[in-house]
Amino acid sequence: MLEKSIQDVKGIGPKMYEKLAEMGITTLEDLLYYFPNRYDHYEQKPLHDLIHEEKVTIAGQVIQEPVVQYYNRKRSRLTVSIRVDGAVVKGVLFNRAYAKNHFTPGEVVTVSGKWDQHRLQVTIDQYQKGTVENNSPITPIYPLKGDIKNNQVIKIISQTIDETLNTVEEFLPEQFIENYRLPTRRDAIKQIHFPDNFTSLKHAKRRFVYEELLIFQLKMQLFRKKTKEATTGNAQKYDKEKVNHLIKQLPFTLTNAQIKSLKEILRDLESPHRMNRLLQGDVGSGKTAVAIVSLFASVTAGKQAAFMVPTEILAEQHEHSLQSILPANIRIARLTGSVKGKKRKEIIQKLADGEIDVIIGTHALIQDDVYFANLGYVIIDEQHRFGVNQRNTLKEKGILADILFMTATPIPRTLSITAFGDMDVSKIDEMPKGRKTVETYWVKHNMLNRILSFIYKELKNGSQAYVVCPLIEESDKLDIQNAIDLFMQLQEALRGKVRVGLMHGRLSNEEKEQVMADFTSNQIQLLVSTTVVEVGVNVPNATIMMIQDADRFGLSQLHQLRGRVGRGEKQSYCILVADPKGDTGKERMRIMTETTDGFILAEKDLELRGPGDVFGVKQSGVPEFKVADLVHDYRALETARNDAMDIVMNKRWKEPEFSRLFQFLKKEFSMFDDLLN
Ligand code: ADP
Ligand code: MG
Repeated sequence: MLEKSIQDVKGIGPKMYEKLAEMGITTLEDLLYYFPNRYDHYEQKPLHDLIHEEKVTIAGQVIQEPVVQYYNRKRSRLTVSIRVDGAVVKGVLFNRAYAKNHFTPGEVVTVSGKWDQHRLQVTIDQYQKGTVENNSPITPIYPLKGDIKNNQVIKIISQTIDETLNTVEEFLPEQFIENYRLPTRRDAIKQIHFPDNFTSLKHAKRRFVYEELLIFQLKMQLFRKKTKEATTGNAQKYDKEKVNHLIKQLPFTLTNAQIKSLKEILRDLESPHRMNRLLQGDVGSGKTAVAIVSLFASVTAGKQAAFMVPTEILAEQHEHSLQSILPANIRIARLTGSVKGKKRKEIIQKLADGEIDVIIGTHALIQDDVYFANLGYVIIDEQHRFGVNQRNTLKEKGILADILFMTATPIPRTLSITAFGDMDVSKIDEMPKGRKTVETYWVKHNMLNRILSFIYKELKNGSQAYVVCPLIEESDKLDIQNAIDLFMQLQEALRGKVRVGLMHGRLSNEEKEQVMADFTSNQIQLLVSTTVVEVGVNVPNATIMMIQDADRFGLSQLHQLRGRVGRGEKQSYCILVADPKGDTGKERMRIMTETTDGFILAEKDLELRGPGDVFGVKQSGVPEFKVADLVHDYRALETARNDAMDIVMNKRWKEPEFSRLFQFLKKEFSMFDDLLN
């Protein structure tokens, strides 16, 4: 019934049909699931009954011309004084200077928004002239496209609900509805469109959040099961003795967390199913060692292994690590954008002929003309740096290859469940022994001289330092100029005492390699750089990370940068130079000085910026949810995930109570037909 086209609905003619189709609505179900994105509700109360920080509606007379102030180029603040109940209340509107004409002195207006009890101030989000009928019903406001009107949508949906609601069937199992005290599907649809009150609206939303997350998680879990079961026959019989021997040869003892992760990875290599695993570990936790040992294991099983990293610098650095750790008979090669011409041809040929065992590279590895003779294992480092498509291309080059994704950006639980829900996860949640916490300070620009003398003192004692300038976009010449200017300044100030180097994205690859090599070998003591050093760079003798205009970076990025120091035995320092104007900037600086825990920082970052900005929605594969919100609904997300795992693992759809859910799944996810039996 609900699949029926909306064409037959009374009141929807061809024109209206087109408009609705434009908004993605073609069936009755689409219509019922086209939810409001907010609600209007005017309930006027006397001033003394208003509650601080709550949304309120008040009406009163405009006292004088509103005042508009502009700041930061495009931002504005409009302030209007309104007389309410004999008191003067201030109304504030942000970035809507054009609203000025709606507030004519002497006239009555009704405004709604958040109430600030202490300042007698409303941050206005809605306003209209005149008074509004008191205690009006809660009115749904729909997201609209084209010239369709909110009232038209209200009418159509209200009518559709009247006519079809009794054909809407519940598909969530009774026990979930009961356990979580969710309204039924019918009630929830009615209440999300036309709520009786805010409590029933809340419960309706709760139901759809759960419903949406459960369906999503079921898909993830089915997907995970399918990947596992669909690929068999790529068991890698690695040589345990050789692997153990290599581990003993390492210049350090692996931490327990490293050993645990390594075991999980080796078990996946050995299993006939394809590995699809995420290795998470804070910066400096030692993921690379785990990666190298597992690459070696794959080679002892007679396979080729590939290690894909996001930057040339990292590729080179990892190549050195591979060379110093792996036995001499392992054939290692590096393929990056800077490898060209004859050299490149040669490597590609050898890869295709199976004469290379381990290849390390950037996305140069996934170009069309690169083939592998026998690719068995792929590691993708700093995986969020690659787009979903790039990750998939490498997958496809070795049809059955085991894949390990590594990330140093701690992924908040909610995101790891959503974006990586189809993966197994290993965590290195322990730092190598002897590491000292990096001391972090936030200073203003006017203290620069004092900081520089502090840095100089450290350098005199044999340490090295990074000075990072913000680079918002690679193409931004101004930012590179910042780095160059600072470099010249510092070079001048420290002439004859310290060698200063400069690193930025405009340098040629050879130049970059040279600078990095000089820094690694302590030829350069102070490295001025744009953010190209952000990921993965490992120079344990560096103990100072000074970040210019630190408030221009996100928390995760600051954490990454800070992770470049504190990699050796010496005490390290991170100095954030910033005069943030906004509260968010200040908040970020404060958080950075308070914690070095990457997970806490990631959660905060998610809160302050939202998942899209932290990971780049398209990049990360984080889906966009309709009702659910990853920051606030994490409990529901976990519940849904547990339920979904239980359902898929135990094939609970065979139980009578789950039969409707089963039908729904079959209809929705035909790709899983073979699993759903
Ligand atoms: P990540 O890639 O996780 O940020 P790395 O693999 O670059 O970290 O390791 C950081 C540093 O710690 C490197 O210098 C590495 O040699 C060292 N390291 C790794 N594992 C250990 C360990 N178990 N004990 C001591 N040092 C270690
Ligand atoms: Mg790393």
